[in-house]
Amino acid sequence: MSTKKSTNNLELLRHSTAHVLAAAVLEMFPEAKFGIGPAIENGFYYDFELPRTLIPEDLPLLEEKMKEIIKANYPFEKQEISIKNAREHFEKLGQKYKVELIADLEAKGEKNVSVYKSDSFVDLCSGPHIDSTGEINPEAFALTKISGAYWKSDEKREQLQRIYGVVFAQKKELKEYKIGQEEAIKRDHRKLGKELDLFCFSDLVGPGLPLFTPKGTIIIDELKKAVESICRKYGFEKVSAPSLAKIELFEISGHAKKFGDELFHVTSEKKHDFVLKPVQCPHHTQIYASKTRSYRDLPIRYMESDKQYRAEKTGEVGGLSRVYAITVEDGHSFCRVDQVKDEVVNMVKIIKDFYSALGLWGNHRVCLSVRDYDHPEKYIGDQKDWDTCEKMLQEVSDEMNLSAEKQEGEAALYGPKLDFMFKDATGREIQIPTVQLDFATAKKFKLYYINEKGEKISPVMVHRAILGSYERFMVLLIEHFAGAFPLWLSPVQVTIIPVSEKFSQYAKEVENKLLEKNIRVETNDKGESLGKRISETEKQKVPYILVVGEREMNEKSVNVRTRAVKEQQTLSVYEFIEKVEKEIVEKS
Ligand SMILES: [Zn+2]
Ligand SMILES: [Zn+2]
Repeated sequence: MSTKKSTNNLELLRHSTAHVLAAAVLEMFPEAKFGIGPAIENGFYYDFELPRTLIPEDLPLLEEKMKEIIKANYPFEKQEISIKNAREHFEKLGQKYKVELIADLEAKGEKNVSVYKSDSFVDLCSGPHIDSTGEINPEAFALTKISGAYWKSDEKREQLQRIYGVVFAQKKELKEYKIGQEEAIKRDHRKLGKELDLFCFSDLVGPGLPLFTPKGTIIIDELKKAVESICRKYGFEKVSAPSLAKIELFEISGHAKKFGDELFHVTSEKKHDFVLKPVQCPHHTQIYASKTRSYRDLPIRYMESDKQYRAEKTGEVGGLSRVYAITVEDGHSFCRVDQVKDEVVNMVKIIKDFYSALGLWGNHRVCLSVRDYDHPEKYIGDQKDWDTCEKMLQEVSDEMNLSAEKQEGEAALYGPKLDFMFKDATGREIQIPTVQLDFATAKKFKLYYINEKGEKISPVMVHRAILGSYERFMVLLIEHFAGAFPLWLSPVQVTIIPVSEKFSQYAKEVENKLLEKNIRVETNDKGESLGKRISETEKQKVPYILVVGEREMNEKSVNVRTRAVKEQQTLSVYEFIEKVEKEIVEKS
């Protein structure tokens, strides 16, 4: 294999920088024990067992040492040695983790391993690397973070210390990365969630169980209303199922096996033995099954926004990204094979309407996941139905200009699907909406409809998610808008600020007029100076601030300050209400 590489190959550069970090750590802590140090997005990490806990001040010191190693331009020298020699070498150094890795390689049948040497530092590694440390741009890397990590990601094993770094080819890219990070910190949903008072956690309630405040709940309710009103236009009907079910329900659907130890079990002294629902689909099948359905009744479409529970590992503290209780907006259509195309078209229209309203449509790509044609036996369902439905999905993509990228082998076991990936304001790609065909679930539950000839036929189940879970969607919204939500979603749409107490009465009058029109309004007349009250309200990112004083009271008008717009405008109360109502309805 050729070993000629260039720094254009960022992955080599990133991984090689991990070696340089390890060498610097060894200088600082001669007793350090090394775990692994792979390249990751934008950089690398390396895991160490160290005699003391690292502090943030260690990072610049290590960076300095790394710069010296880079400047010395040590070559990365590769050596193939026998497993036996490698073991002896690392045992002598007391590098127990490397010894364990060597044993793992031996168990896989390897006879030789490769080690890489740069100056005095030798690391077990399959490579490849850059030619020498001097290829790293000393101005284009940075150590970013320290965290804990279990050896081999196993909670029962040793806890190591992980150092993260970023590496780019050019100094300019590092600078851009740092600016992006600062922006991400400013937009962090945990920080903004607290500042804007949207959700909280309680030790008494438990971790991973977010509590939505009145303001956060307004956003969730508005989203719900928006999704449901679009879906209703396309024939979805709301249903409601309990949070619990007998485990048999999920054994039949396959979710008991799929979620395994992530299921929450609920028992009682009265011999109840339930699980909290990890998904809603199985409950919906039982509403379908409650009556005999004819081919003329289909499609039958149900939707529900309800809490689902999964004992997922919660990696993040105080955030909504991974929680035990998620409110999932789920919808299912039970239909005939010949109806699948129209169903999918409608679901894509729903997705388009909803994301357009948020200004996100256009900033996305679509994936069409189909079978692995070399192994059709891996999938559940009739091959003929798969052929028909994959073709239909392709037609939907063509006719609706989705330009879906076809991904062979990415279909679910039970059917093909369309996934939508959106880019948020920080450039992150998030997959939320999905339309999935399912040939299996109806069969598992023995669902059927009676066709024209009086035969029992299994319907196709089409699952669709528009916004996924409200919790994760909140993360996207908060970070995308940096808390400055569109008017229709803003918990407080208008704040009225009287210039002094003298005008509180007039402020109240205006407030009542807005309330009559269901506009979410607050008055801020609490003692503080006018300037302070205005800046407080601006920090809360309220879309409209109405300042009222002598002139406004006499004219029955309001002085309108629009969020992020410098100029102010004086409108009559009537004109202002008309303008706001229009903007809310149009979701502009
Ligand atoms: Zn390496
Ligand atoms: Zn479903």
